[in-house]
Amino acid sequence: MASAFLDTPIEYLKGIGPQRADVLKTELGVFTFRDLITHYPFRYVDRTKFQSVKDLSEDLPYVQLRGVIESLTTVGVKRAQRLVAVFRDNTGIIELVWFQGHKWMADKLKTQTEYIIFGKPTRFGGRFNIAHPEIELANQENMALKSAFQAVYSSTEKLKTKGFDSEGIRKLMKQLMAQIPGDAIEESLSAEVMNDYKLLSKNEAVRQIHFPDNNLQLQKAQYRLKFEELFYVQLKLLRLHHQTVKTVPGAVFSKVGDYFNGFYNKHLPFQLTNAQKRVVKEIRTDMGSGHQMNRLLQGDVGSGKTLVALLSMLLAIDNNYQACLMAPTEILANQHFVTISELVFPLGIKVALLTGSSTQKERRELLAQLQSGDLQILIGTHALIEDVVQFKNLGLVVIDEQHRFGVAQRAKLREKGKVPPHILIMTATPIPRTLAMTFYGDLDTSVIDEMPPGRKPIKTMHFMEPQRLRMIGFMREQIALGRQVYVVYPLIKESEKLDLQNLQKGYDDIVKEFPPPQFQVSIVHGKLKSEQKDFEMQRFVKGETQIMVATTVIEVGVNVPNASVMVIESAERFGLSQLHQLRGRVGRGAEQSFCILMTSYKLGADSRTRMETMVRTNDGFEISEVDLKLRGPGDIEGTQQSGVLDLKIADLVHDGQILQMARAAAQTVLNEDADLKLEKNKVLEKNLILNAKNRPSWAKVG
Ligand code: ADP
Ligand code: MG
Repeated sequence: MASAFLDTPIEYLKGIGPQRADVLKTELGVFTFRDLITHYPFRYVDRTKFQSVKDLSEDLPYVQLRGVIESLTTVGVKRAQRLVAVFRDNTGIIELVWFQGHKWMADKLKTQTEYIIFGKPTRFGGRFNIAHPEIELANQENMALKSAFQAVYSSTEKLKTKGFDSEGIRKLMKQLMAQIPGDAIEESLSAEVMNDYKLLSKNEAVRQIHFPDNNLQLQKAQYRLKFEELFYVQLKLLRLHHQTVKTVPGAVFSKVGDYFNGFYNKHLPFQLTNAQKRVVKEIRTDMGSGHQMNRLLQGDVGSGKTLVALLSMLLAIDNNYQACLMAPTEILANQHFVTISELVFPLGIKVALLTGSSTQKERRELLAQLQSGDLQILIGTHALIEDVVQFKNLGLVVIDEQHRFGVAQRAKLREKGKVPPHILIMTATPIPRTLAMTFYGDLDTSVIDEMPPGRKPIKTMHFMEPQRLRMIGFMREQIALGRQVYVVYPLIKESEKLDLQNLQKGYDDIVKEFPPPQFQVSIVHGKLKSEQKDFEMQRFVKGETQIMVATTVIEVGVNVPNASVMVIESAERFGLSQLHQLRGRVGRGAEQSFCILMTSYKLGADSRTRMETMVRTNDGFEISEVDLKLRGPGDIEGTQQSGVLDLKIADLVHDGQILQMARAAAQTVLNEDADLKLEKNKVLEKNLILNAKNRPSWAKVG
């Protein structure tokens, strides 16, 4: 059978043998012919173009040179040994250097022989050298093999010692490709999807990805293979979502009752924005559907998510269910408790707070009321998901700032109701659309993309250390106008002690500039007891202190409308999303607000981009896109544990458009045939299963 050919163990490929096969297995995970053909190149070079030594500059990322090795010398002793080759082309001389595997290279290379080398030049004492270049003989055979675009494969030192540098792998690939029967690479997408998206066949794509005829064919091949990879991730996620929606029952909140209406008509402190209205409607529809809601609500800091959460909770109560709201920190839980208690006070709804600091007595009373059903809304920290916390009839769980809660914790919450409670996850950390589609692909999403009216956009400025006096002067002006100021210091775990010293010193400096009794300064950090923290916070909230010196504990949730200046010290040590979060602490009142980013004078390119981005825009989604480009998907908060990053060819940073199309394609298929039972979709079902088997990490998807 044709496809069995690809399952042939790799040691059966001519000339490999068991020993070299072992290295392929351990280093590349290549066990079969199939594995080898999916070891895709990681880039391509135009091997018909050569540079000259005289034109080298450090700005060139990679160069390809053609010339002769004049001499080979091993220098240094023992572990510091290296091989140095003097390489000359028509225009000059450079050195090639090998530190690892130099013995093997010394045996392999010949002097007075023409080679083609490829690598990154660096200047070293007035001369250029290239460390660990790719190198191959410039003989007839190699030259004839060159199409304009030649594949480059990733390799390791171990592989290289067995002859599997990029060149060696390419030869192996060539040999295998020549042997594969025409029909052995089976089509893995349905004819319909291929037609709709004008995709190259799998067979053609695999051949072209390794040995492209030209640039156009290469692009088509890449498109096809990326599409397929993303398509199956989306198919899996959307199917999971479909199954959840279809099979998990949820409490039906069928009526809009007195609590919701009473609040909406009489006590709503302001008109909802259109975005808030739309989202409330989406949530209402979900919660009336008879299936469990799993919804992610994204909305920038200050966009008014709390009110949406409250309205949703009122719906639960109208239908005789309880609701709870879980916050990531005590400060935030407290604040939610205060805000929500005030808002619902006229309705006579019972609200309670449960955190790590609740006393035994408080807990006991609260748990009793929770079980009798007297308590309607419970607000708290992770203490909420402890097993002892039992509800009479939990209908809705709101999770604020979701990325701090693990998947397992969410699952635990689901078990707290007789029927699984509806789940609303809120986050003010906007994540780029492409990532949301993948990491939260099994959730429905809502977006509040509109700020309440009358907000003045925060003005952001970037000051460097020499401008510190200007910054102090600016603080003075604003305080004279009656405003309050945050001064935030970074706190990174590894250097906690040092950072606390910095914070203390920063506090002392500020107090020197703003001495009592005219000025009062608060200080808050994670090492303070919670009573102390509260005391300091309260002084600031009440306006008794003008300045709040703090670590990032104030990052989420804190709401002091009169605070209109946010100074971030050592801003270069923060990531973009964190800077954006911190900035969101101001801009909550009627006054013009400011954010000042203080950095040292010397900044790396990435830090500079971060500061420029912050100065340029207040849009959290735009900032998240820049963040993604700077850091890659693996470093975006909340994505680390996800198996989605195990992609062989697609790339979530650059392939956003392909991802959108692949998702649309998967959705279309499932809309018509949710169980993939139709004959034409059999091939999709089969490959979905195959993918699950071949990529265990994808099990974590969703
Ligand atoms: P976040 O989305 O960051 O959680 P909040 O819910 O804390 O935002 O709301 C930020 C501020 O905006 C609060 O003071 C809130 O009362 C106010 N707010 C919310 N919705 C509106 C609205 N529609 N009009 C005016 N102010 C609003
Ligand atoms: Mg909030």
